[in-house]
Amino acid sequence: MPQTNEDPKSYEKCVLCRQTVKIRISQTVSSRKYYVEGAGQLCPACYARVYETWNHGQAGKKAAP
Ligand SMILES: [Zn+2]
Repeated sequence: MPQTNEDPKSYEKCVLCRQTVKIRISQTVSSRKYYVEGAGQLCPACYARVYETWNHGQAGKKAAP
């Protein structure tokens, strides 16, 4: 049996789409990517979408479907 530390259960899941994110649960939140305080861990795709929405008032327009 191959030895591995890459147990999927040790990774975070996106709070929005429940997809596994390549962020270890043991990793401190301050060093995580795509972590939103008050919301939780997001995946890159959801983070981009949410972040864009939050900046919507300020940023220039991006093509939104
Ligand atoms: Zn997601």
